[in-house]
Amino acid sequence: MIATDALTGQIKAAPRALPADNFSNGFYGQDILSVKQFNRDNLNYIYRVADEMRSLVKRFGKANLLDGKILANLFYEPSTRTSSSFQAAMLRLGGRCISINEVRYSSVTKGESLPDTIRTMESYCDLTVLRHPEKGAAELAARYARKPLINAGDGVGEHPTQALLDIYTIEDDLGRLDGLKVAMMGDLKYGRTVHSLTRLLSLYNTQFYFVSPEQLQMPDEILDEVRASGHPFEVLRDVQPIIGEIDVLYVTRVQKERFEDPTEYEKLKDFYIVDQALMAQAKADMILMHPLPRVYEIAMEVDDDPRAAYFRQMENGMYIRMALLAAVLGKA
Ligand code: ASP
Repeated sequence: MIATDALTGQIKAAPRALPADNFSNGFYGQDILSVKQFNRDNLNYIYRVADEMRSLVKRFGKANLLDGKILANLFYEPSTRTSSSFQAAMLRLGGRCISINEVRYSSVTKGESLPDTIRTMESYCDLTVLRHPEKGAAELAARYARKPLINAGDGVGEHPTQALLDIYTIEDDLGRLDGLKVAMMGDLKYGRTVHSLTRLLSLYNTQFYFVSPEQLQMPDEILDEVRASGHPFEVLRDVQPIIGEIDVLYVTRVQKERFEDPTEYEKLKDFYIVDQALMAQAKADMILMHPLPRVYEIAMEVDDDPRAAYFRQMENGMYIRMALLAAVLGKA
C-alpha cells in the first residue's frame, strides 16, 4: 500500500512560474510541476534545445553534458515510455540513473511517506522525476524537496513533459502552432495528458474540439480556463461533423485504473475507434496523435498512415526530456 497520509495536507496553490533570468533561460534549479509554468518564450527555448539533442543523438549517440549527475526516477504508477525515456535521456547525456519502478520493493511498502522517500532519494541524486497516482503529489513532494523535481504524471492532474513533447511534435510535423484546429477525443475526464495539452495549447491561437461521451467529459476546471483565455471551443459526442476540417486529432485511452465501477469502464472502453475509414475522411495534412499506450482506440491498420504521429511523439519524448534535464541542471 502506498502511504499517502501526507497528501491530505494543504497543497501549494500554484507552482512557481519560471523566473526570467539568463541562465538556462530560467530553468536552472527549478521544479517542473505544471504546464502553467511555461510561456511561449521558454517553450521555444526547450524546443530549440531539443532540436540540438536530436541532432546530437543522430550524429554521436551521446554527450557528456551531465557527467557525474544522478537522476532518481521514482514511479509509483506503471510506465513504459516516460520512465525509460527519462532514463535514456540521462544516460545519453552521460549521467546515471537510480530507477525505482517497483515501489513494492522499496520502503514505501513499509509505510514510508512521500516526503520521506523524496528526501531520501535526493540525498543520493541531483534531481527527481516522480510519477504518482494522486493529483497534487508532485507539488507536495516539491515542497519538501531541496533539489529539482519533475512531475511525470500526478494521477488525473497533469503530465507536463508529455504535453511538451506533444507540442514539439505538432510543430515538427505541421510547421506551426498558431491557427490550428485541434480535436481531443476519448477519456478527457481522467486523461491527464489532455489536461496539460489543453493548457499548453492555450498559449497559441487554437480552436479546440473536445469529443467524449458525457461521462468522460473534460473537467469544468479546464473548460473554465479555456473560456477565460478566450479560445473558441466546442464540446461534442462525435468526431464525424469535424473530422474533415481538423489539423490534429489527439486520441486518449479510457483510463481503466481510474474507474471505481468496472462495469462503467466496460461500457466506455471502446466508445471511439479510429480506423482507416475514419482517416479517409480526414485532411491529407492532418496528424493523428496518442500519448500511448493505446488499447482499443486506434486500429493497428492506421499505423502505416503517414499522418499517424504517435511513434514520432514517442521518440521526440527522449529529446524533450534530454533538453529539460540539461536545462534544469544548468547545462543547456
Ligand atoms: N502514458 C500516458 C499517461 O501516463 C497516457 C495513458 O496512460 O493513457 O498519462
